Amino acid sequence: MGDAASQGAVPEVPGRGGLTGAPQGEVWGDPAAGRGPSGGAGHAAGALPRAAFPALRLRRLRGSAGMRALVRETALAADQFVYPLFVVPGTGLRRPIASLPGQFHLSPDAAAAEASAAAGEGVRCFLLFGQPPAGRKDAQGSGAWDPEGAVQLALRAIRAAVPGALLLSDVCLCAYTSHGHCGVLAAPGVPGAARDAGPVVDNDATLPLLARVAVSHAKAGADVVAPSDMMDGRVAAIRAALDAAGHAGVAVLSYAAKFASGFYGPFRDAEDSAPAEGDRHGYQLDPANRRQALREVDLDLAEGADMVMVKPALPYLDVVAAVRAGTGAPLLAYNVSGEYAMVRAAEAAGWASGPELALEVLLAIRRAGADAIITYHAREVARLLRAGG
Ligand SMILES: [Zn+2]
Repeated sequence: MGDAASQGAVPEVPGRGGLTGAPQGEVWGDPAAGRGPSGGAGHAAGALPRAAFPALRLRRLRGSAGMRALVRETALAADQFVYPLFVVPGTGLRRPIASLPGQFHLSPDAAAAEASAAAGEGVRCFLLFGQPPAGRKDAQGSGAWDPEGAVQLALRAIRAAVPGALLLSDVCLCAYTSHGHCGVLAAPGVPGAARDAGPVVDNDATLPLLARVAVSHAKAGADVVAPSDMMDGRVAAIRAALDAAGHAGVAVLSYAAKFASGFYGPFRDAEDSAPAEGDRHGYQLDPANRRQALREVDLDLAEGADMVMVKPALPYLDVVAAVRAGTGAPLLAYNVSGEYAMVRAAEAAGWASGPELALEVLLAIRRAGADAIITYHAREVARLLRAGG
């Protein structure tokens, strides 16, 4: 089993190419083989420092379900899943979201029923997204801190309905602003504004508004607030506001490495949060930049983030692995709407098994180093795991 032990080191250093094939495997095998004759797995040929084919056959480790289970390096469990819920004002509403098959717009009471059903399947961690009532968007996004807003009501309703639930709330303004951007817009010519055409979000003017949203969520019972806006300095602003309001026990999960991604398309449709003009490249990360993503993680942790997130997940597994290697802080990855929609679309077309793809996607995200995964597959995969995967 010395070979299995040495391979166990591979996920610890995911950036070193352990997935690229046999030559790398030889490198990883060296330390164990160098310990003496017993490290060579009983190879009779004598001079070789380590076993090689045909004495060494890794297929032995894959020959039965029992063996595969014994040497499996990565596991999935329902308590590693965070289930996003789209909350809307009203009562008794459970409306299918066309771009996210199997997901719904839920009024606060229906969100509590959904959370209760999910908890029965082992999923007890929820991330809430909200919307204001129709026609109530404004330039500041003031509906986001309404104490009677859909998210605030849903936090209370789920807390009452689901003992043991862990409640996360998304903190942003884009679903509440009339212009659809994640902060207030700067007047033309504001210092520090980007030089792109189109509207520019005023970073510093946005921070107190985000803090206000976070405090309103904490008052309504959020365990964790999760800022997704990508403004500079927002974690520190939110931490200070929470502490000043008596919510020192509420944690901050930072969307630290959030990329400007086309994979958010179905979500923006669901949240009605697409920018009316311009795009989010002025504040979200450039998909080409891994080092800058690591700097964002460092900054957010320095500002007091308790946990960090990489979003999206699947096209950014290298970033997940790099963040994992660089910090001991809990790391979440967001298996976003476009990743989910691809699975559902392939399934609907008859091109692949949806459950098989979902399991493999979540396993890959965990294998890359995420502690937990925010995913629309949460309930579906929790049921699969209960049924034996
Ligand atoms: Zn936003």
